[in-house]
Amino acid sequence: MYSKKIDEILSENKIMPGDLVKIEPDGITGEIMPKPDSSDSCILVIKLKNGYNIGIEFRPETKIKKIRGADFRFEFSGEGISEVAGLPDIALIYTGGTIGSKVDYKTGGVYMLIKPEELLHEVPELSLIANIKVENLFSIASEDMTYTEWQKIAVRISELITNNKDLRGIVITHGTDTMHYTASALSFMLGDVPIPVVLTGSQRSSDRGSSDAFMNLVCATHIASKSDIAEVGICMHNSSNDDFCAFIRGTKARKMHTSRRDAFAAVNDKPMALVSQSGDIEITNGYKKRRSIGGQIKPRLEFEGKVALVKVYPNSDPSIIDFYIEKKYAGIIIEGTGLGHAPVSGSHEELRWTESIKRAIDAGIIVGMTSQCIFGRTNPYVYRNLRILSGLGVVYCEDMTPETAYVKLGWLLGNFKKDEARKMLNQNLAGEIKARTEFEE
Ligand code: GLU
Repeated sequence: MYSKKIDEILSENKIMPGDLVKIEPDGITGEIMPKPDSSDSCILVIKLKNGYNIGIEFRPETKIKKIRGADFRFEFSGEGISEVAGLPDIALIYTGGTIGSKVDYKTGGVYMLIKPEELLHEVPELSLIANIKVENLFSIASEDMTYTEWQKIAVRISELITNNKDLRGIVITHGTDTMHYTASALSFMLGDVPIPVVLTGSQRSSDRGSSDAFMNLVCATHIASKSDIAEVGICMHNSSNDDFCAFIRGTKARKMHTSRRDAFAAVNDKPMALVSQSGDIEITNGYKKRRSIGGQIKPRLEFEGKVALVKVYPNSDPSIIDFYIEKKYAGIIIEGTGLGHAPVSGSHEELRWTESIKRAIDAGIIVGMTSQCIFGRTNPYVYRNLRILSGLGVVYCEDMTPETAYVKLGWLLGNFKKDEARKMLNQNLAGEIKARTEFEE
């Protein structure tokens, strides 16, 4: 609510959030936004034509004139957009990140929303696409996520799918930094999902003119409510234009840029679909088809936390492996160079990784090899040095990203016996390994 006085003036003039107004004497035109919880009740929040939201102090001389009514309905029923018959039901699980942040008009700093339904106030167009029930699972930056949060999200998704046979899809808002780890974890934990499970986020908060929050949320909602892609994936900008979002398989997605809106890429894969803001969906890859929801889905939730992701580089010290042996780790994924190398025969004997890796494998630790090239496939045969490592028992992880291999190994060790886990590490379970590497990917 705005201040009593502003509310009275708005209602006298029959002005509602979403209406286009002109504010005098400032001469500013824009749409009235619902008041954010954190700002002063005497500050009117207006969305300008360029997308920026600004706060205007309401002074005694301030006058508001309605130019036209809202393009979109602003009706909210506490936890979500009020139900419209015929629109598909989707659930939105809020977990934090920039997509759930706004500028505080008093301090100018970005803060995380306390009430996630405020996100819907920011994107009223969603009310035309689906009936959305929002829930706040937690509100954290994604760098603070651990496997405990992955498990909480997986449990909630399973409950929603098990208890709502009419649910068309699920959108999860998430910080972008580690969204691809969560997407991999959910892909393995949930196994075959019957409906779309769509992670989305934003690189820039919803108050910035260049924010990607609105389009990403709209596109994710289109995928969740009307695509027939029953997979876990990430839906974010496909290019820095506002033309399409890409829906990328959860185990093949990776954040590739610190700030660009098209930060996520499909690695060694193509996006499953491109989707426009108006809801056109173009299928661009194979995918698992939507099924009707029937019965329980039983996630495999366990995760072995004692798995490490270790990077090899010139002059790197292999005693990092001995550190993990001592710490009783169960698995190590190495991010090797090129086709999957670690130093094995350099002039500095103490910098050769062979002995440490052998000690780890002898101690029962599963050691997997990926490539820091990110794109392409590892290969244990091309060079003698590679054959030395694979001869020790290092598992070459095909074309998996290091992050996906890391998540997969933690999940395998949590849910299966060690021998099975070792065998499954380089077998495809959730789209994480493609049999062939295609040139254009
Ligand atoms: N580092 C924060 C996170 O990943 C903010 C970045 C973002 O949401 O894009 O949650």
